[in-house]
Amino acid sequence: MSKYSISTDLEKLIAIIKQKPRLLMMLDYDGTLVPIQAKPDLARPSGELLDLLNKLAFCEGIRLAIISGRDLLDLKGLLPVESIYLVGGHGAAIEGPDERRYDIINLGKLQPVLEQLVLIAKQCVGKASGFIIETKTTGLALHYRLADPARVRPVLTAFVTKSFPWLKPYALELLHGKKVIEVRSRLINKGKAVEYLLGLSPGYYPVFLGDDRTDEDAFAVLQGKGIGVLIAPEDRTTRAALRLESPEKVQKLLRYLFKTHCEVLKSGTSF
Ligand SMILES: [Mg+2]
Repeated sequence: MSKYSISTDLEKLIAIIKQKPRLLMMLDYDGTLVPIQAKPDLARPSGELLDLLNKLAFCEGIRLAIISGRDLLDLKGLLPVESIYLVGGHGAAIEGPDERRYDIINLGKLQPVLEQLVLIAKQCVGKASGFIIETKTTGLALHYRLADPARVRPVLTAFVTKSFPWLKPYALELLHGKKVIEVRSRLINKGKAVEYLLGLSPGYYPVFLGDDRTDEDAFAVLQGKGIGVLIAPEDRTTRAALRLESPEKVQKLLRYLFKTHCEVLKSGTSF
């Protein structure tokens, strides 16, 4: 773990990637590519960002991947971008540019357990307002960003207690993120997804950008192999090597990449 207090990490990052003709650019979505919103549904990319991603995805020197805790279908709806790797459920499901799907865990076995956990979450929330239960193919998330702060602790305590017996037998774990508690499989994480993409991309220098605790697995995998970039307005302990303050800085980096790495397009492409 390291702590950095550098306000010019964008320049440092640019200096590193300038030297690399081929880049595997992997980005988290919420809080990294786009700012976090009070409701996950509102975190949509601008037309300008989609246009930029579409162009980057067709550059010969760049492979682009989005690795998110969201469901793959959700990501596909948000990012109608061709020639991109989309990784949903923290790495549970991967779709490549050829639309080939990779499901890392047996989703059929997991489904009844997740349905049970959604029922438990609903019971724990009861009539309290502002909680959002997000059901995913590979887990669930209990968001409390909009909840009355006085109700947060009792609801979360009840959920943690009641869901606990279901976790270990099904290789599930609870993870506390930004105003959200998530249930996810222990068999998958973003680090494993990054390793998988590295295997598909020999010769490409890997960069991963992320803002949350689930992104630390990916930062750890890249130590000594590539570069992890934490997206955070302030310093904190992390396995990432550099820090950018905000999704706005990330988009600035992507615009820079388009200028420097997109002289040659993948064959058959024209803008
Ligand atoms: Mg995030």
